[in-house]
Amino acid sequence: MESTFTHILIAVDLTEDARNVAKKACALRTVFDCKLSCTHVIEPLSLAYGGDVPMDLSTIQDQIQNTAKSHLQEFATSLSIPKENQHLVFGRPETEIHSLASEINADLIVVGSHGRHGLALLLGSTANGVLHGSPCDVLAVRVGN
Ligand code: AMP
Repeated sequence: MESTFTHILIAVDLTEDARNVAKKACALRTVFDCKLSCTHVIEPLSLAYGGDVPMDLSTIQDQIQNTAKSHLQEFATSLSIPKENQHLVFGRPETEIHSLASEINADLIVVGSHGRHGLALLLGSTANGVLHGSPCDVLAVRVGN
């Protein structure tokens, strides 16, 4: 069994708590002297509202993409994560995080225990989803209290 990590992938929802999650991931990067990548997944509005309301969501989607792009860039740069290791992707967070982890050969995914979906669940829905069927180890950093 591998006793070290070589490539950590941090999944960020770009909330304030993401900074605390990132701190832990950065500490692990130092301990294991390994590569650190980060990703933010944009959930297409059509997945949430598709079909229910017949309207053109492309302008809003573009705005979300542009804002997310600059926030991710700012966030990643503050953690010294180079551009080629910053991944802005589209789809369902857990599915995309798994695919990306496989694609880049990450051996640890770091997520926050909770995020935008609040503290109502024992484990946030995304953290829970990432845990199930992950291609590698998953660390859920406790967020909240
Ligand atoms: P939540 O399911 O909203 O409670 O989020 C739990 C954790 O999942 C967050 O702290 C992030 O690490 C991760 N996460 C949630 N949404 C996203 C997203 N859109 N992109 C990347 N990671 C996310």
